[in-house]
Amino acid sequence: MIMFMFMLLMLLSSTSAHKGRPQRHTIVQPSELRPVEAIANLPELTSRNIADFIGNIDGTEESDEAALRFLATYGLVPNERECPECLNGKMSLVKDNALPLHFVWRCSSCKTSNIITKKMIRENTFFQEQKLSVQKIVHIAADWVESPGRNNERTASLHGVTTSTIVNLNKLFRQLTEQWFERQIEKNSNFLLGGPGKIVEIDESHMYKAKYNRGHMLRRKSIWIFGMTERHTNKVAMFRVKQRDAATLLPIIRAHVKPGSMIVSDGWAAYGGIRTLQRAFTHRWVNHKVNFVDPSDRRVHTQSIEATWGAFKRELKAKYGVPEDQLDGYMSTYMFRRYFGRKKLLNHLLIEMKYYKKEDDSPAEGSSKDADKIILLQPIFFFFVF
Ligand SMILES: [Zn+2]
Repeated sequence: MIMFMFMLLMLLSSTSAHKGRPQRHTIVQPSELRPVEAIANLPELTSRNIADFIGNIDGTEESDEAALRFLATYGLVPNERECPECLNGKMSLVKDNALPLHFVWRCSSCKTSNIITKKMIRENTFFQEQKLSVQKIVHIAADWVESPGRNNERTASLHGVTTSTIVNLNKLFRQLTEQWFERQIEKNSNFLLGGPGKIVEIDESHMYKAKYNRGHMLRRKSIWIFGMTERHTNKVAMFRVKQRDAATLLPIIRAHVKPGSMIVSDGWAAYGGIRTLQRAFTHRWVNHKVNFVDPSDRRVHTQSIEATWGAFKRELKAKYGVPEDQLDGYMSTYMFRRYFGRKKLLNHLLIEMKYYKKEDDSPAEGSSKDADKIILLQPIFFFFVF
């Protein structure tokens, strides 16, 4: 009881000490706010210069102030908060050295009625559930961008965190690229492939899902990816498909390829209906049983999509296969890196952090870890649909 009184006294004295000081209701001035997309206009963010933008990983007030300003400027954390309890208006930004980023939101209206409403700076943001500091997460993201081939144990020891922390963060970064892909499809018409005079190559690629039991392969299931590339560009779109029939593939082509494109496939089987799509597509195909380039028209080949499969599968192989439930993340990461020509990837990853929506967890998928690795048994380039 005495302890409680003492704490109350401390609290009262500390709050009265703030009286007379102007209250801070925003992190940066409203005139300093920028749309998050403006991060793409910053110089290429790298592990070498990122501290100039979001501060060091040393946990000092200066570093946190830098991070706070950067995050608020671009909307990665809210620049101001309304009190959810008393609805009396804006919360105050107050110093709290014990909390991440050295600050917390507190309502001064609630305070007068003996309730203290606080909100963490990171609440409802990408960073909310992360235990690491914002700076550390972004430094690890820089590493993820710059050293995709490095193994997780090595990355973990470089950053002084556990391997599972790195595994989880990498998974989160791949989710951000999935979100990027979905957002582009929704809002960016330039994201569509092809157009008049452009060639779009389409193909399906096969992967095995192998189930192991004490070293014996019990059964295996096929996984198919349908892919499209716009020739001579970085544009690529991949979709996991259950069937390889016209009913599955034609709607994907229709939704993602611009009218006027010339579409090239190897084989005709599922694609005969392309001409019926009424989008002024030209469809040409090459029969790989006979040759790889149509001798009557050297443009008719699928070497760009084949090379894409090769590159993508080499990435998966370097990981010794990947869990099936993470295949989409690897697909979109491949597309993300390629779309931007490996430039300003960290800038674009930060932009996605603003739009981050937590996915609904499906814990059932976590149960099958190593048993569900996708094993790539196919030779990469010479796969026939027939
Ligand atoms: Zn309040």
